[in-house]
Order: sequence, then structure tokens, then C-alpha cells
Amino acid sequence: MTDCIFCKIARGDIPSKKIYEDDDLFAFHDINPVAPVHFMIIPKRHMASLYEAGDHPEILGKLFAKAGEIARSQGLADGFRTIVNTGRIGRQEVYHLHVHILGGPEPLGSMVPRNKA
Ligand code: AMP
Ligand code: ZN
Repeated sequence: MTDCIFCKIARGDIPSKKIYEDDDLFAFHDINPVAPVHFMIIPKRHMASLYEAGDHPEILGKLFAKAGEIARSQGLADGFRTIVNTGRIGRQEVYHLHVHILGGPEPLGSMVPRNKA
């Protein structure tokens, strides 16, 4: 997709701090990290969200199969968190499917803060 920011990053049209690339996948550091290590793995093929990913199980399978290896390459040898925000309720901001990988030297905070209500 021509006007999709993550398609542009995957093509190298706009710069990113690249971690990993192969024929199907691209991984790069988040521009606004929320953990000591925070990067994203994306499929190079445009799919807007997990809702649109059903036609490409092989690419999603490869993405998750590679996640541990890529995380280890970034020093995350003692665990990490994966997040896939989807749609309005998931507060997805960029509509090109991406898997966040978060980690660091210490355990992360709770997965989702509990509402006080
Ligand atoms: P989400 O809310 O799951 O859609 O997350 C989108 C993420 O993309 C956010 O964490 C942003 O900080 C990140 N982001 C947006 N633009 C860029 C960019 N040009 N390079 C790297 N990360 C980006
Ligand atoms: Zn895209």
C-alpha cells in the first residue's frame, strides 16, 4: 500500500532502526519505546490488522515462529511480552499489522491495568 507508513518502512522508503529482515518479515525498533527494549515485527505484505490476517496464516506462523529468535538477538533471553493491538477497542494506531515485542532487564508491569470501577 503506497500511503501506509509501515509499508514504507518495510520497503526502506522511510528510515527505521532495523533489527531483522527476510523475504516476508521486517523488524524495527519502536520510535516511542515503552520498555527498555521495544520493537515490532511486521509482515512485508500489507494487512491492516489481525482482522484481515486470515488469508495469510503462513506469514503469521512464520512471524511468531521467528519472534523468539529475533528477541534473543536483542538480548531478551529471559522472556518478553508480545502485544497485537487490533481496531478501536485495542487502540490500534497504525493499520498495518504489527506485533510489539517488549522486554528488558526487569519484569514488565501488569499486562493491562485493572479498572478501578
Ligand atoms: P499500535 O498502537 O499498536 O498501532 O502501535 C503503533 C506503534 O508504532 C506505536 O508504538 C508507535 O510508537 C510506533 N510508530 C509509529 N510510527 C513509527 C515509526 N515511523 N517508526 C517506528 N515506530 C513507529
Ligand atoms: Zn502497510
